Amino acid sequence: YGKLYLVPTPIGNLDDMTFRAIDILKTVDYVAAEDTRHTMKLFNHFSLETPLLSYHEHNKEGRIPELVNLLKEGKDIAQVSDAGTPIISDPGYELVQACLDQGVAVIPLPGANAAVTALIASGISPQPFYFYGFLSQQKKNRRAELENLAQLPVTFILYESPHRLKEMLKDAVEILGGSRQITLARELTKKYEEILRGSLDEAVAWSRKQSIRGEFCLVIEGSQNQFSTSAEHVYISYADHVRLLM
Ligand code: SAM
Repeated sequence: YGKLYLVPTPIGNLDDMTFRAIDILKTVDYVAAEDTRHTMKLFNHFSLETPLLSYHEHNKEGRIPELVNLLKEGKDIAQVSDAGTPIISDPGYELVQACLDQGVAVIPLPGANAAVTALIASGISPQPFYFYGFLSQQKKNRRAELENLAQLPVTFILYESPHRLKEMLKDAVEILGGSRQITLARELTKKYEEILRGSLDEAVAWSRKQSIRGEFCLVIEGSQNQFSTSAEHVYISYADHVRLLM
């Protein structure tokens, strides 16, 4: 059998591509890309010519068996998304499952990821942290999700689109309270990278004065109320996360 490589690509700055990622993209038989036109830009930059196949949310049902067949014929495939680490709020999870079911080896490469990049610069305790990704686009569901997150004594990380950020911050301040610490990491690794740190009240005040543009990742302090996050309580709080999220 061939191998499935999961290959992160930059989240802005093309210099964040790793040598190994370029080498794998060069040597595999196919690259399965979320958007082939988008990936072509990366290919042009690094002079890559490997054949591209599209693999995204809308064609995955038909595409997965085709990709698994190619792998079983001995072809190596690399999977990439538009930016960052595939599978993390991006397509790829079902392909990995299908490969594992069929005994095809899955080889992950480390690389660019907005969540971890934001977390390390946030100044907010990284341990434990919970990666949540995108909240629901519907206000009611988004508020319910924030109500669950509000209980957790762990730092949590959200992705949010620029046109929903103001609304989302308004909900967050109501549900989490204005004194929670939040870091807004905007346009990470890009020319206009900005990392704003402060309270939720301050973040809301800031967002009111801006027209919001660019990509945002939010790191939010966990609840200080209910549980301690010290080592002896980790087990209890973990059980509670599970209960609260159900
Ligand atoms: N797979 C990607 C990763 O590993 O980070 C995430 C893909 S998700 C579809 C895209 C979201 O990630 C954006 O809406 C934004 O919330 C966040 N994001 C991606 N690039 C970013 C950047 N350069 N700065 C801040 N946030 C970013």
